[in-house]
Amino acid sequence: MAESIQAIRGMNDIVPESTLYWQYIEDVLREIARNYGYQEIRFPIIEHTELFERSIGVVTDIVSKEMYTFVDRNGDSLTLRPEGTVGCVRAGIQQGILHNQVRRLWYLGPMFRHERPQKGRYRQFHQFGVETFGLPGPDIDAEHIFMINRLWNILGINDQIVLQINSLGTKETRVLYRDDLVIYFKKNINELDEDSKRRLNTNPLRILDSKNPNMQSVILHAPKMPDYLDEESKIHFDKLKCLLDAAQIHYEINPRLVRGLDYYCCTVYEWIAEKLGAQNALCAGGRYDDLVAQLGGKATPAAGFALGLERLAEIVTAQKTIESTPDVYLITVGEIARQRGLLLAEQLRDKLPKLCIITSCSSGGFKTQFKHADKSGAKVALILGDKEIEQNIITVKYLREDKPQVSLKFSEVIKLLEKFD
Ligand code: AMP
Repeated sequence: MAESIQAIRGMNDIVPESTLYWQYIEDVLREIARNYGYQEIRFPIIEHTELFERSIGVVTDIVSKEMYTFVDRNGDSLTLRPEGTVGCVRAGIQQGILHNQVRRLWYLGPMFRHERPQKGRYRQFHQFGVETFGLPGPDIDAEHIFMINRLWNILGINDQIVLQINSLGTKETRVLYRDDLVIYFKKNINELDEDSKRRLNTNPLRILDSKNPNMQSVILHAPKMPDYLDEESKIHFDKLKCLLDAAQIHYEINPRLVRGLDYYCCTVYEWIAEKLGAQNALCAGGRYDDLVAQLGGKATPAAGFALGLERLAEIVTAQKTIESTPDVYLITVGEIARQRGLLLAEQLRDKLPKLCIITSCSSGGFKTQFKHADKSGAKVALILGDKEIEQNIITVKYLREDKPQVSLKFSEVIKLLEKFD
């Protein structure tokens, strides 16, 4: 036997038993997006590498070591998208749909990062993302948080998730903060691990994200972003907090929440589900008011969030059971019945379009087919054999109810099945 070829490490197959959960989550997400007046946008999975370098930042982990970058046959450097915001902004600018207007957009699809795979961290993963353009106030930040909160409520998982918020202020305040942070960490250089020493010169804010237990004390005493906020950012942040309080959404202020991408400013937040273990961030977002201009568009205030579907599916799967069973399983015995059976199934589908009808396609004798019917979870089995053909009837056998089997005419069968429709 030939050796089988395995999937690429960190890239998952999602089997039918799992897609039931994914479809359920995706349906809820689409419905929420519609409720809030968001429209779907689709953009390519591959973009020019420069797009990500220019926006996410060349010193960030994503760009410096996690991108799937390759040279195509034309010699162009291309990259599989590591996240959605940047492609969405690029598409919005190119299509001219951001200029001088308010846009509420959403997308859903695969993202690619060459990270070290572990539970909850994959190299191909899926995000549902929302991006809003043209709204500068804290009310849109609050709307995004309300949307996500509504999602947790509908899924029944709100008690498992905690919201952390912070403000990164403007670009100018972040520069001041960054300088002071570097001075502080340089003074305490002996307490930093190798990774953080490297980040000191590239991305010092990310040192605050370190999970190294030996560094927690030096991080705890580091200068704090909120002490550096300019007046405008402070007011924006206070207003957001008021809106969340008014909606009774519980949150924690985490002054060390900095996010891994360069383009964020002002409001940032993360929803954490402790239950997920080491990779416990479920959803993250914030404002990125400079990004549209940075990518060549006219300056446009913007905000958004992205939600990891693998992690959410894990929580929902542990929370509830979703099964998919057919309504009807059609058993046919004999050559004539086999042909008639397929047509009968078509007629049933014409009359009862919502029903799920599986035909046995005569795989095996009556006993085998009956076993399959029972295993499928179908509510009833319809049996078509020589006797039925001769008498122009169909035998109905209840598989989940303790009722005697009956032989009925087509019109009577339709009536009987209508209750499942
Ligand atoms: P980010 O784009 O890094 O802010 O991530 C947003 C969300 O996407 C996270 O909160 C996770 O739920 C999910 N996510 C990010 N990276 C991965 C990954 N490598 N594997 C699975 N989910 C991920």
